Amino acid sequence: MTGVYIHIPFCRQKCAYCDFLSFPRREDIFEAYKDAVISEIKQARNLLCDGVDTIFFGGGTPTILPASYLCQILVELAKHLAPGAEITTEANPCTVDFNYLKALRNNGFNRISFGLQAWQNKLLKILGRPHDRELFLNAYYNAVKAGFNNINLDLMFSLPYQSLDDWNETVYSAVQLKPAHISAYALTIEEGTPFYEQRHELPLPDDATDRAMYHAACETLGGSGYNHYEISNFATQGSECRHNIKYWCRDSYVGFGLNSHSFVDNTRWRNSCDLDEYIKNPGKKYDVIHLTGGDADAEAMFLGLRLTQGVCDSRLIDLYSDIIEKNVALGLLEKNHDHIRLTKYGRDVSNRVFAEFI
Ligand code: SF4
Repeated sequence: MTGVYIHIPFCRQKCAYCDFLSFPRREDIFEAYKDAVISEIKQARNLLCDGVDTIFFGGGTPTILPASYLCQILVELAKHLAPGAEITTEANPCTVDFNYLKALRNNGFNRISFGLQAWQNKLLKILGRPHDRELFLNAYYNAVKAGFNNINLDLMFSLPYQSLDDWNETVYSAVQLKPAHISAYALTIEEGTPFYEQRHELPLPDDATDRAMYHAACETLGGSGYNHYEISNFATQGSECRHNIKYWCRDSYVGFGLNSHSFVDNTRWRNSCDLDEYIKNPGKKYDVIHLTGGDADAEAMFLGLRLTQGVCDSRLIDLYSDIIEKNVALGLLEKNHDHIRLTKYGRDVSNRVFAEFI
């Protein structure tokens, strides 16, 4: 079985921190883009013939397209769908009303991921988000009313002007809504964004506050029944995101749409990142790389260690025994039965641990 990712590279406006490939105000091209994605799926039937058990529409803002366009893309994939497939779309709260959400639900979408980011309107404004808390709540309750019971909320910490109290209020308020899944990511300042230009003036929380925010979220979410199954992801029992788990477990996935990435049989490739070129020739592939044994092993270690359960492949554990022993001695990794996993401290410096395997 494979996963499918569909990239929808349009947004209402660019958020101040975002370096994703997405374009504001391109309604003129929505239909041509949808047709290109469908054409690309038709050309790639052989990659889907073993069945598709997860689909993830991401962006950008997939829900900026008419619901009928998302459903048409889904229809093209339907012939490959396994029973019980997880079908997610990301959604910006300002782009969906009840009828929109009902149309998605009636046509097979069964998971929705809202970018809430922060509970405080002052922070949403600073982030350049095109919604406030009230719009988000409206969208959330409409999703529940439309029949979505598997909802994710994306939250962000380490934001400029965000206090620890702000963050605690965000996490606590999110928990009160009882979503099935919560993701909590630290802001990173990316080159080419308005935040990058302002980086010397932005009052960002210091490292100690950043870690205090992360630990507070782990504690609140863990204490509220959420399983902390990946560094930044928390789920109620059985609601772990099956699509994202494919990335961390190096299962196969095929990406459709602008600049989407694919991974099948240890081979990676990506699509064009030029919008006009993609629409003219949606099947064109770039940067096809077949991973050799060493690269594949390293990747299996640092992706697998993102998961709380860690890595249990005894061949890999033997292969990297020196690095593992060194990091166990430093208190960054621990052995749990036949698994190797990050310690609590290791999660705080996970990039340092992952770098050892590269
Ligand atoms: S809505 Fe998401 S993808 Fe679009 S600009 Fe904002 S952060 Fe980026």
